[in-house]
Amino acid sequence: MHRRRLAWSLGFCLLAGTSLCVLWVSVENWLPVSYVPYYLPCPEIFNMKLQYKGEKPFQPVAQSQYPQPKLLEHRPTELLTLTPWLAPIISEGTFNPELLQHIYQPLNLTIGVTVFAVGKYTRFVQHFLESAEEFFMHGYQVYYYVFTHNPAAIPRVTLGPGRLLSVIPIQGHSHWEEISMRRMETISQHIARRAHQEVDYLFCLDVDMVFRNPWGPETLGDLVAAIHPGYYAVPREQFPYERRHISTAFVADSEGDFYYGGAVFGGRVARVYEFTRGCHMAILADKANGIMAAWQEESHLNRRFISHKPSKVLSPEYLWDDRKPQPPSLKLIRFSTPDKDTSWLRS
Ligand code: UDP
Ligand code: MN
Repeated sequence: MHRRRLAWSLGFCLLAGTSLCVLWVSVENWLPVSYVPYYLPCPEIFNMKLQYKGEKPFQPVAQSQYPQPKLLEHRPTELLTLTPWLAPIISEGTFNPELLQHIYQPLNLTIGVTVFAVGKYTRFVQHFLESAEEFFMHGYQVYYYVFTHNPAAIPRVTLGPGRLLSVIPIQGHSHWEEISMRRMETISQHIARRAHQEVDYLFCLDVDMVFRNPWGPETLGDLVAAIHPGYYAVPREQFPYERRHISTAFVADSEGDFYYGGAVFGGRVARVYEFTRGCHMAILADKANGIMAAWQEESHLNRRFISHKPSKVLSPEYLWDDRKPQPPSLKLIRFSTPDKDTSWLRS
């Protein structure tokens, strides 16, 4: 009799436990996804560079005050070739293309490229791809990833041997700021899902641009940034950084090296993953606080490059704007934005 009561109680407990579990899972699924509302993340956390135990210090962890590096510091026609943290600044005349070809060609590398073409920007794809086929990483395996809301609008451009194109459908957004902001999230997810197994290096580029001269292995590095054509001769306090403290992209007047463009960045795929994920997290924190940084993802990219310094910096040869006259300091324009009707594109 006693045993039977024990068996009954055990059975009841098991049943009750299972029902509670089922109930909890269904309630959890039913609840809308929400960000923790009482946690206000701050820039210090998002942009802190952690120095793990046993890791060799590669760059200073603590913030320090130092003079701004100036691209045109020495002579008006000669660009700086090394950053104060010893990253090379790449421009015509600083490297030997034949030697680099000899070094990199046998490595059998695959270089990925991400571009976004949403809404009216699908019209830029053809020119972008045709010019990339002519000038981008000639003789290497290249994997283009084109993200679009409308795959049917992507033209079929003839690609050279060893070069592939993948059109990836994404959701469209009505605001251009949102489209541009979402790139960090999409790129990091794409790396996690696919690109980490397909490419060695990845460049993330704007689609409203064309290649005009060779872009080769001199651009390959762990983490690569490009100096924005509008601010290469400007004091850092005039850089259009996000200046509001509440944003995770906040930069103080005394901080900053170069103002980098959001239209070109890249590196080893693992580093690009870490970089885009960090930027995406910071963008999410801003969103939760109802704030959009001054220049959207470009502001977050610039904030992150201050604490996670690029190992290679591309001069504005690799990110130019045709609306500007070519200055004597730039010998070659390799990748540039043609004159475009911005107000029509954003309408
Ligand atoms: N973009 C897009 N559709 C849009 C807005 C932006 O596909 O409606 C993508 C596109 O790849 C574009 C990039 O986001 O090159 C950045 O936007 P944009 O070129 O307008 O920024 P800007 O270079 O003028 O700062
Ligand atoms: Mn652009």
